[in-house]
Amino acid sequence: MSSIEKASFEEIRGVFEEAYRIGLASTRLGKVADYIPELAKANADDFGICMKDADGRELSFGECEKRFSMQSVSKVVLLAAALAHCGFEETFSHVMMEPSGDSFNSILKLDTTSNLPFNPMINAGAIETASLISGDLSFEDMLAYARELCGDPGIALDEAVFASEFETGDRNRAIVYLLKSKGVLMGEPKRTLDLYFKMCSLSVNARSLAHMGLVIANGGIDPATGRRLISPEHVRPLKVIMFTCGMYDYSGKFSVRVGVPAKSGVGGGLVCAAKGPMGIGLYGPALDSFGNSKAAVKAMEHISKELGLHSFD
Ligand code: GLU
Repeated sequence: MSSIEKASFEEIRGVFEEAYRIGLASTRLGKVADYIPELAKANADDFGICMKDADGRELSFGECEKRFSMQSVSKVVLLAAALAHCGFEETFSHVMMEPSGDSFNSILKLDTTSNLPFNPMINAGAIETASLISGDLSFEDMLAYARELCGDPGIALDEAVFASEFETGDRNRAIVYLLKSKGVLMGEPKRTLDLYFKMCSLSVNARSLAHMGLVIANGGIDPATGRRLISPEHVRPLKVIMFTCGMYDYSGKFSVRVGVPAKSGVGGGLVCAAKGPMGIGLYGPALDSFGNSKAAVKAMEHISKELGLHSFD
């Protein structure tokens, strides 16, 4: 099989079923994140894949209902909201669009090389996008937007994760005050961080992420409701930044091997906006050394290869 356009739904189902098996077999090679104590409670053996397409068809294998915290996948929601609220020029005058080559929570280049965060998918960049909106949009506004993007009214703040995040978030505090000291932070530091931590602590599942991936893959329109949730001119920067910066320091390899705009989080979530259009949401809390779900990456390699999902093929 070589292309999503030609594959029957039964063939697609077969590919996802096999990807689920491959992913499940690799969960034991990963390790659950423990730098935030609440994350360490996840079950390392869990794995789930959900696919949604624009015709309303859905496939799900494994743990697709189990809730977990969105973590860095929320950086996509923050960027989409900042673009909608401030526009393209204003947003990207506060954050760059370059891969950083440093770890997600690094302060190094921000202090030594540039005043602006390298991109919105690292902590400094997401804290900056949160600062752009935190003066005007409340957490409740952002929760409503996340629920819409994910087609999931069940998304809520996981209070235990939020408390854990808040207690262990000193590096993020360092980032917000460094941004402030450089005069680039647009919001009040405590309010900005509160929004950033809360967005990381939203409880989603693989199905919600599949829906969000589908909205992005479908040019910003939710096929289930016909509503536009992201402006057409903002979909491209969103997808490109996910493509180039969405998988931590594995973004280059993921782009070559899988070639699908994606964003992962240390809670084990992965959102993919694929050709078709098709949204793929995955959950596997056992992570590789880069912070990506081990099982989800393995599964996506198989799916992309078998269905010809690479953006440049
Ligand atoms: N809450 C996390 C932090 O800022 C986000 C981590 C992630 O998923 O990359 O440390």
